[in-house]
Amino acid sequence: MKIGIMGGGLSGVSIAYFLQKNDKIKSIEILEKEHELGGLCRSFSLNGLYHDIGPHVIFSKDKEILDLIINFLGSNKNKLKRSNKIYYKNRFIKYPFENELSALPNDDREYCLNAFLNNPYERYEAKNLLQYFMKMFGKGMTDIYLKPYNEKIWKFDPAFMDTQMIGRIPQPLKEDILKSAAGTSIEGYLHQLYFYYPKKGGINSLIKSFVNRFNKKVRIITGSEVVKLQSVNNKWKTKTDKGVLKEYDLIISTIPLQSLIKIYKSNIPKKNFDSVNDLKYISLIITIVNVKKDNIGDNFAVMVPDKDIIFHRLSKLNFLGKSYGMKDGSTTLMVEITYLKDDLIDRMSSKDLEEKIIEGLENTKFINDREQINFIETKRFEYAYVIYDLNHKKNVNIVRNYFANQGIKLCGRFGEFEYLNMDAVIRHAKNLSEEIVENI
Ligand SMILES: Cc1cc2nc3c(=O)[nH]c(=O)nc-3n(C[C@H](O)[C@H](O)[C@H](O)COP(=O)(O)OP(=O)(O)OC[C@H]3O[C@@H](n4cnc5c(N)ncnc54)[C@H](O)[C@@H]3O)c2cc1C
Repeated sequence: MKIGIMGGGLSGVSIAYFLQKNDKIKSIEILEKEHELGGLCRSFSLNGLYHDIGPHVIFSKDKEILDLIINFLGSNKNKLKRSNKIYYKNRFIKYPFENELSALPNDDREYCLNAFLNNPYERYEAKNLLQYFMKMFGKGMTDIYLKPYNEKIWKFDPAFMDTQMIGRIPQPLKEDILKSAAGTSIEGYLHQLYFYYPKKGGINSLIKSFVNRFNKKVRIITGSEVVKLQSVNNKWKTKTDKGVLKEYDLIISTIPLQSLIKIYKSNIPKKNFDSVNDLKYISLIITIVNVKKDNIGDNFAVMVPDKDIIFHRLSKLNFLGKSYGMKDGSTTLMVEITYLKDDLIDRMSSKDLEEKIIEGLENTKFINDREQINFIETKRFEYAYVIYDLNHKKNVNIVRNYFANQGIKLCGRFGEFEYLNMDAVIRHAKNLSEEIVENI
C-alpha cells in the first residue's frame, strides 16, 4: 500500500512515523508546501537565535505521549518551571490570575473576591464561554481579566464562543480563592507548572527527532503544494504546484479544511462549502525585539489584557535556556498579536505594527525606551488558532462526515479543525495510524 500525506507539520510527520512500522505499507510520501517541514512547529534562526511561532513548550497530561516526546528529544531538552505573569495596572500578577488576587489593587481585589463569594450566576448552566467565566469565576475576575484578555486574543466575543475549551480552564476552589486574596499565593494549571523545551534549535528539534527515526519507506517532498486531489478508479491522484502528478492507495490530509475543499475535485454539495466557509480561525503576527535591557525580571511569559497595548502576550526567550540568548547579555522578546483576515491589524504594515509594539513596550515600561532596541523583525502566519465559535461543532461535523464518506482521512489542528496542542496532535496521529493499519 502506498500512502500520501498532505502537509508536513507535526501531524504529517508523526503519522508517517507511526505508519512506517507496518509491513503492509510499502511507501509513504509527505507532500509539504513550504521548503521545510514543521508547519507551526517550525523554528527560525535570527542572528543566530532560534525562535518558534509563539514559544512552543512541551507539557501533557497524556503520559505515553509526553514520554515519547521526552525520549525522542534525548539529552536535547531543559526542564523548566513556569514563571508567567499577567500585566495589570502597572503591576505583575502571577498567572493564572485567580492564584494571586492579593497582588491586585485593593478595590479590584475586593471586587473579585466579593463577586466570587456572592455569585448570582453560579447555578446557571453555562451556554457560552462568557457565561462559563461568570459562573465559575464571578463577574469581578471576568470583567477585570478573563473577558478583556479573551476578547483580545480571540478577536471574538466570548459570548459567541462555545464551552468546548472549558476543559483547559481549571475550576477555582473556594478555599484557594480565599487564600489567594488573603496573600497566600498558590499554583494553578499544575500540569504545565513544569515544562520541557529543546536545549537547542527551538521546537523544530522535535520535528527533526521524528524525521531522524524515519525508515526508507518514508519520502519527504518539500516545496510541493498540493493543488489538486482527485479519486480515480479507487486511486488518489494529486497534482502539485510544480505540476508533479502522484498516485496513492490512501490519502491523509493534515492541511486546513479551507485548503482541502478548494483542491478536492468532486461534486461537493453546497452545504459543505458553506460549513467550511463558516469555520472561524485567527491568524498570528510574531515580532522579535532584541533589547539591551528589559524590566521583565526572571519571567517567561507576560499576558497583557489591556486593550491599549497591541500585543496580548510577550515572552522572554532567554528564559528557555542558554542558547536562546545572545552572548552580549541582551534579551530577546517575542510579542504576539492575533488578527482576523482583513481586520484593521491585518491591514497594518509591519512598520506601523512595529511602531505600535514599541509604544506598547515603552508604555508598559517593559523596556525603558526605544534606544534599547538592537533589532526587530515581524512575521505573519495565517492559520494559528481554531476559534470555538457557537457554530464550530455543527460545521466541523458536517465537513468531517463528508470527507470520511469520501475516504479522505483527516488529522491535525487545521486538518480536523480542533484546538489541538502538540501532544494531542501526536495522540490523534497515533490513533489514526492504528485505525488505518487495522483496516488494511
Ligand atoms: C502561537 C502558538 C503557540 C503554540 N504553543 C504551543 C505550546 O506551547 N505547546 C503545544 O503543545 N502546542 C502549541 N501550539 C500548537 C501546535 O503548534 C500545533 O498543535 C501543531 O503544530 C499542529 O500541527 P499540524 O501538523 O496539525 O498543523 P500545521 O503545523 O499547521 O501543519 C500543516 C502543514 O500543512 C502544510 N500545507 C498546507 N496546505 C498545503 C498544501 N496544499 N499542500 C501541501 N502542504 C500544505 C503547511 O505548510 C503545514 O506545514 C501552539 C500553536 C500556536 C499557533
